Amino acid sequence: MIHHAPPATATVRRVTCCLTIAGLFIGSLSTPALAQQGDAYDVVIRGGTVVDGSGRPRFRADVAVRGDRIVRVSTTPIDTRGAQRVIDASGRIVAPGFIDLHTHLEPLLRLPAAESHVRQGVTLALGGPDGSGPFPLAAYMDSAQRAGLGLNVAYLVGHNTVRERVMGLANRAPTAEELERMRVLVAQGMDDGAFGMSTGLRYIPGFYSRTDEVVALARVAAARGGIYTSHLREEGLGLFEGVGEAITIGREARIPVVLTHHKAIGRAMWGQSVRTLAMVDSARAQGIDVMIDQYPYTASQTGIAVLIPPWALANGDSALARRMRDPALRDSILRGVIDFLLNDRGGGDIRRVQFGQVSWQRALEGRTLHDWAVMRGVPPTPEGAAPLVVEAQLNGGASMIYHVIDEGDVRRIMAHPQTMIASDGRLTSPGEGQPHPRAYGTFPRVLGRYVRDLGVLSLEIGVHKMTGMPATRLGLTERGAVVEGAIADLVIFDARTVADRATFEQPHQYAAGIGDVLVNGIPVVSGGALTAARPGRVVRHVPTR
Ligand SMILES: [Zn+2]
Repeated sequence: MIHHAPPATATVRRVTCCLTIAGLFIGSLSTPALAQQGDAYDVVIRGGTVVDGSGRPRFRADVAVRGDRIVRVSTTPIDTRGAQRVIDASGRIVAPGFIDLHTHLEPLLRLPAAESHVRQGVTLALGGPDGSGPFPLAAYMDSAQRAGLGLNVAYLVGHNTVRERVMGLANRAPTAEELERMRVLVAQGMDDGAFGMSTGLRYIPGFYSRTDEVVALARVAAARGGIYTSHLREEGLGLFEGVGEAITIGREARIPVVLTHHKAIGRAMWGQSVRTLAMVDSARAQGIDVMIDQYPYTASQTGIAVLIPPWALANGDSALARRMRDPALRDSILRGVIDFLLNDRGGGDIRRVQFGQVSWQRALEGRTLHDWAVMRGVPPTPEGAAPLVVEAQLNGGASMIYHVIDEGDVRRIMAHPQTMIASDGRLTSPGEGQPHPRAYGTFPRVLGRYVRDLGVLSLEIGVHKMTGMPATRLGLTERGAVVEGAIADLVIFDARTVADRATFEQPHQYAAGIGDVLVNGIPVVSGGALTAARPGRVVRHVPTR
């Protein structure tokens, strides 16, 4: 990201966006002036061990904050006299706040405190993943800022969102005129402050696009300094083609790529991350800037529609219902569902398919597709359950948890040097359905299970994958590091006790060991509990030209 003055002809929107950046500069310029007034810090974090986000070894240091900035990182004790607040971090780790590159922020205006995220230590969350996000972005960002946020948020512009606005759920390539309208919308999203474009090529209507369409739109984002994050077209049997397509888009559009929530779905593909990671390495060797993000679980979560052939979903659920009344079409839809249950998200066993949120039958939440088949008196097999899958979609859909990822792949992908940690979690609060535990536990789970208990990563590298790496990917030069002058997004945790507590059975549980979280210098979690402060900002990317 390059900060530069707005052109004289800037629109009101551009001016708003640049005022935010100007504010950051004022913050940094004012630091020396304030320092002359004495050592009255707003916050001093005392006696902790700093893991600074760069990956370098930890060191003992005190950290002082004034306003929204880290103003001192000192290996000798900092004088706390006059400090507004002193946090005793002895025995604990002081790290940059975690940056979540894949967040389902959709409930943000209803849950602006974002407690399920900040209590994991997340201080900046990137929304708009998987091809869908708010649009128009500028107006949404303004309402989010007014809502009073518990963390910082940023956005991607979604390909599916843009395509649906121009073409609805049509199953075809765009006309030249439609493609041009999509390009304009992507440019608008970028000019409003998006950090790049996301696709969800496994979902409709993104599935109906060809690679050349995505390349054309990714070029628009690339020209403004954006990145491209890809929910691949296939993560099961077609995984290699899916990874290959994302790499092609990176090469053709000359855009940095993130393979988001990277995994290998279904038993037939277990172990194949060896090959996908080799594809990433060889793309990078050719100069294509490909990175990865990952959540640390062996189950995915997405809508039940993912079990239905995408062609059958064209033009919406009423069209699906119509097709189901045609015997030949019904037969081929159900055969497609059976195939997905056997070879893709179903993992060959309908006990692996668990209901998350089901608005039309809450009793199903937490139960499996196998349970539902038994309840309904149909054979608990892929064949018996296939009509139920379509029925669920026609009832309004359901959010599903698919237990179809191999632990060996999780560890191998995590250990790869280009992999960052991201939750793919949706903001939630206790009592709301049966969310994937990643919504509460992603970052503590990596630090507890994979760093401390299994030794897959060192603590320094684990933190780096949550902080410095994603900050760099986003071009955020002022976040993701514990250094003087950086914005004071900080988390203080106990490396001996940090752990996720949310499980697939009991997901609504906050993590352990995350004691204090500061967002823009203000504590939002203190002593393990949420405070009343809402210092979060909408962070806008400044397009490069
Ligand atoms: Zn996704």
